[in-house]
Amino acid sequence: CGIVGYIGDRNAQEILTEGLKKLEYRGYDSAGVAVFTKDGLQVKKAKGRLAVLESELEKKPLEGTAGIGHTRWATHGKPSDVNSHPHTDNSMKFSVVHNGIIENYLALKEELIAEGRVFVSETDTEVIAHLVASLYKGDIVAAVRDAVKRMTGAFALGVLTEYEPDKLVAVRYASPLIIGVGENENFIGSDIPAILEHTRNVYILNDGEMAVLTRDAVELMTLEGNFISREIFHVDWDI
Ligand code: GLU
Repeated sequence: CGIVGYIGDRNAQEILTEGLKKLEYRGYDSAGVAVFTKDGLQVKKAKGRLAVLESELEKKPLEGTAGIGHTRWATHGKPSDVNSHPHTDNSMKFSVVHNGIIENYLALKEELIAEGRVFVSETDTEVIAHLVASLYKGDIVAAVRDAVKRMTGAFALGVLTEYEPDKLVAVRYASPLIIGVGENENFIGSDIPAILEHTRNVYILNDGEMAVLTRDAVELMTLEGNFISREIFHVDWDI
């Protein structure tokens, strides 16, 4: 239901959890984050209020400067720790947060199981992590684009891979997503309040568009791979 993503040089865990708090008004049943740490991509997620996740993170912080966070409003699979986002593939090299519904997830799941991939959750979202991993040939942008071509439904996505830790990939299709542009740091969010504390410079994605964020740049493109130039939207209101 809520997405926040960060790539920069500050403590990602804190920016993600604070951003998710700003999206609490949307409602949710569980929350989670994935952060690039020195031990690779690490995920922490828990059913319940954000406070539950925060107390877990307090016990064992995820140290890193890039990550994705999510508050879930369950549509496929009951609220539980394992059904919470982010979801990962079996190698734990790919991590995905998703708002919306993948309508054809059962067909995709059957295909991916036939490939030998093992599902751990009951969600529609988990297929995205396995599908991106399955299609990955060294270029995360191409893999996400190819995965999205196979998916029907509604989705805003944040995707990370340990193979390309300098990139955060975002997609919008029938579920809202915005990009926040900072200085030596960039953000994604399902709504402006999630990032407003950090920047007032925003790109609003349209349906069928994706973004590739690095620490110091944001590239916008269509799902067909055509680059888009767009003016920054300056947010002049406060929350
Ligand atoms: N359909 C996904 C799930 O049930 C995402 C729900 C959401 O938008 O929070 O896990």
